[in-house]
Amino acid sequence: MAGPQAGRVVNAMTVDVEDWFQVQAFAGVISREQWDGMPRRVEANTEMFLQMFADAGVKATFFTLGWVADRHAALVRRIVAEGHELASHGYWHRLADGQDVATFREDVGRARRVLEDVGGVAVRGYRAPTFSINTRNPWAFEALADEGYMYSSSVFPIRHDLYGMPDAPRFAHKVGAGRLMEIPMTTVRLGGRNFPCAGGGYFRLFPYALFRAGLRRFNGEGGSSGVFYTHPWEIDPGQPRVSEAPVMSRFRHYVNLGRTRARIVRLLRDFAWDRMDRVFSL
Ligand SMILES: [Zn+2]
Repeated sequence: MAGPQAGRVVNAMTVDVEDWFQVQAFAGVISREQWDGMPRRVEANTEMFLQMFADAGVKATFFTLGWVADRHAALVRRIVAEGHELASHGYWHRLADGQDVATFREDVGRARRVLEDVGGVAVRGYRAPTFSINTRNPWAFEALADEGYMYSSSVFPIRHDLYGMPDAPRFAHKVGAGRLMEIPMTTVRLGGRNFPCAGGGYFRLFPYALFRAGLRRFNGEGGSSGVFYTHPWEIDPGQPRVSEAPVMSRFRHYVNLGRTRARIVRLLRDFAWDRMDRVFSL
């Protein structure tokens, strides 16, 4: 039944391309003014993903920061040249729900223009930093459509201390007066509650077999395609340690970094994957 080919649901493999010092967990101790002085590791780590995907014959979607594209043009061009989808993670990695509409539009518009200039392809997808589209900023969807985007993959339909929109739909749906598609992070529903099954810290923390069972269960719900997300810094145990950050932030950022690469290689084998625009016919 679980043969490698026949009838497998294809899931969306996605990477949020940002460096280790740009994450929300360290925003309180590393300012944006300091970014240019930090040792950059995003290019080498993203190249490792490109190699893993090439070895597995998988195409993925890379939600890339405009800031990174401005400094790593060769990397962006390689993502495109190898057949992956280039998409946007905003310019400055600012929380979407921490901005007003005008500032948000400026950031996502700038990111799209930079990515399209550097990559030479149309950029249609957007992922909000830290899944920061929720009930506080429903205007974000129409703002994205106004700035030329066709889809967003920004909502996490769970309850979490930092993000989440627990009552949001769990499957792809139209938003922003029908002008945009939202592809939410994958969740498993148990006992009337949604549990995350999409990647990131949870994927590193819990046993791999649990994640695999969750994604299989989701795929079994009417043949629905799931979404997996990861980051270049998640396969980089050698990154500098930020000792000034709060203990919970450090735990979430550093847990099991050394095991993640092998786990993702397994994941690439155990499921069928493709770029988000193709999986969801966008
Ligand atoms: Zn991010």
